[in-house]
Amino acid sequence: MPCLEMLIELFRQNGRKITPQRRLILEVLTQHSEHPTAEEIYQQVVITMPDVSRATVYNTLRELMTLGGVTEAFESGEGGVRYETNPGNHHHLFCTRCYKLVDIHHDFAEVALSPGELAGYQIVGHQVTFYGLCPDCQEREKDEVLSSEM
Ligand SMILES: [Zn+2]
Ligand SMILES: [Zn+2]
Repeated sequence: MPCLEMLIELFRQNGRKITPQRRLILEVLTQHSEHPTAEEIYQQVVITMPDVSRATVYNTLRELMTLGGVTEAFESGEGGVRYETNPGNHHHLFCTRCYKLVDIHHDFAEVALSPGELAGYQIVGHQVTFYGLCPDCQEREKDEVLSSEM
């Protein structure tokens, strides 16, 4: 998780101004536990600063992405893309129903490609994603089956 000061520093080093709005957006981003969408950040930001526009939030995130402070993680359905704030090497559990994306830290020592499969690529990392239903969605599906049987 990048800390707030690191992201502010990143903006400053690249000649960007840190407005109170931006500072708050970065603050919300770094406090969010994992992979927020722009919309989720916006909803948090307006609690403190009701006059911040969606455009400001989206633009700040886009700029941060250009600077390498976050990366796009996954399409998350209606909420748009989720932002990856964890710069470390890690993997994911992805719920195909509610689009929840959870970090997992596991060393897949055996994930490797042969030189032929690499097709000349110089590899900087790899990420493994497990797709499935999260516990909440499994419960919801059970309830749905029950209510449809009644
Ligand atoms: Zn789910
Ligand atoms: Zn992640």
